[in-house]
Amino acid sequence: MINKIKVEFLSLSVNESFARTAVAGFFSELDPTIEEIAEIKTSVSEAVSNAIIHGYKNQPTGIVTVECSYDENRKLVISVADNGVGIENIEKAREPLFTTGSSEERAGMGFTVMESFTDHVEVTSKLGEGTRVLMIK
Ligand code: ATP
Ligand code: MG
Repeated sequence: MINKIKVEFLSLSVNESFARTAVAGFFSELDPTIEEIAEIKTSVSEAVSNAIIHGYKNQPTGIVTVECSYDENRKLVISVADNGVGIENIEKAREPLFTTGSSEERAGMGFTVMESFTDHVEVTSKLGEGTRVLMIK
């Protein structure tokens, strides 16, 4: 690792745009392409919105922690963590179109978007303890 940041914020939906801007700003040092910035911002938005909507069930009192780093090989690591309800079945949650939200509001495509816009997505979760999504690009 040659550089790293850690940002914590309350689980308010307004902080989703803060998080994606903060992450994009951190990686701007590496001169990413416009496409790479868009992919990173979208992936962060998906993970952060999941933490707020699902992890904390839209309660505005949870803490979302975003950590980012890059190394000399330009490997980017982004971690989005919450201390919310956790995911019962991670494999199922990651399936395209799977959602526990209402079908009018949620497409069940968040994890699929993260997977297609980054090189690797790792999800760890424990019921009642929370969820961490690690993305490598
Ligand atoms: P979309 O992202 O398209 O609006 P979605 O959020 O339901 O819909 P995904 O982001 O793919 O779809 O997530 C799939 C499911 O995984 C969610 O419906 C939810 O049940 C579960 N999930 C995802 N992230 C979390 C989290 N941080 N905490 C608890 N459950 C989660
Ligand atoms: Mg989602």
